[in-house]
Amino acid sequence: MTSARAATPLSPGHRGEAAAIILPMRFDNLRVSPGISPIENRLPRAQPLPKLTTELRALHEIVRASGLDQRRFGPETYWTILDPILASSPALACERVGESAEDRPLRMVSFGEGEMAVLAWSQMHGDESTATMALADICSFLGRHPEHALVRTLSRRLRLYFVPMLNPDGAARFQRHNAVGIDINRDARRLATPEGRALKAVHDRIRPAFGFNLHDQSPRFRVGDSGRMAAIALLAPAYNDQPEVSERRRAAMRVCGVVRRAIEPLVGGHVTRYDDAFNPRAFGDLMGAWGTSTILLESGGWPDDPQKQHLRMVNFVGILSALASIADGSYEQVDLALYDGLPPNGRMVSDLLLARGTLIAPGLPPTAADVLIEYDDPLTRSGPTIVEVGDLADREAHETVAASGLFVIAGEGHGAPDGSARIGPGVPADLVLAQDPAGEVVVRRIGPD
Ligand SMILES: [Zn+2]
Repeated sequence: MTSARAATPLSPGHRGEAAAIILPMRFDNLRVSPGISPIENRLPRAQPLPKLTTELRALHEIVRASGLDQRRFGPETYWTILDPILASSPALACERVGESAEDRPLRMVSFGEGEMAVLAWSQMHGDESTATMALADICSFLGRHPEHALVRTLSRRLRLYFVPMLNPDGAARFQRHNAVGIDINRDARRLATPEGRALKAVHDRIRPAFGFNLHDQSPRFRVGDSGRMAAIALLAPAYNDQPEVSERRRAAMRVCGVVRRAIEPLVGGHVTRYDDAFNPRAFGDLMGAWGTSTILLESGGWPDDPQKQHLRMVNFVGILSALASIADGSYEQVDLALYDGLPPNGRMVSDLLLARGTLIAPGLPPTAADVLIEYDDPLTRSGPTIVEVGDLADREAHETVAASGLFVIAGEGHGAPDGSARIGPGVPADLVLAQDPAGEVVVRRIGPD
């Protein structure tokens, strides 16, 4: 609706403007739905907070690879940033381990001269870049601080292999699938993709004792039955459909416990366990069957962190803490309760609920209707789409706007060529929230950028 004029440009929650009628329920860190008891998911008190967390957090400020401030970046940007770090660090080697479907190089960084091989791979889903940033930071730390006690220990005990950005074609488009449209993490059995084959070949060559499968999950996941966002989800995946837990899987569970203990001070109460149903097509699951204790780490969402820079630091701390515990064997002493006590990834909530407003659409009578919206990218709030319209009093959203007394006015995006209205589930949102039915006094716009 082009006639809608904003009295003043308003941003959500902008002080003084319509603040009285907007009730943002954003990132409600410790809010628990009424009547639901919170899951006890704090660190057990008996567990001392690791000193390493404090040290690594401070170190991250120093070693953080610069130039990766936005989480959308392509392979060229990434390697342009990482190459000088690799070139100036004799302890780091880099080799080509394959080509993507579009012939982009797949590269692996290695470090250390120890007995035990550890493999970490990231961004097999092209739009999941948090750990890719953290791996650059870890390379920077390993390369530039050879005298650091942790770097020396890792070098002596382990051989580290990192494959950052396993899906460069997807990363170039910031999409989940590879260039052929295949989910590489569902290709572990068939190995039809060059990216999947490269990862399998690397695995078969280096035979890692431990594997880190690094992903991002939807920020819509909540912690257990609480209202908290899941910042990091961990899993020691099953590698068959049998319920028994082998020593190999138990080792991965203990390392998950190490990660939890390390990061809980940074994302307290926001750590979960990922769904552990066995998937015979997924790499994380099959790596276990191939002999590797595998740890899945999924970065979700964090308050006011649309570019995932806080979670990048959390990845840095968590992964290095895990590597330290593998290097000195201390993970073997970790209480399995740290893993078993992780609350599950709970329900997913939608992004935005316009509650109790009056919907105005071309050629239709004004209608009392709630409107539920999800964004293509919930973190940057871009690409809104209508999920549902109607009585949605029971639906939950990350942000609920109390629109009682306000008008939700459908803009041009909701007009069909014949002049009729096109509004409903699946339609991209082009809405104006206004104080009057003509849209003269705009409270907020929800539409294409
Ligand atoms: Zn993923």
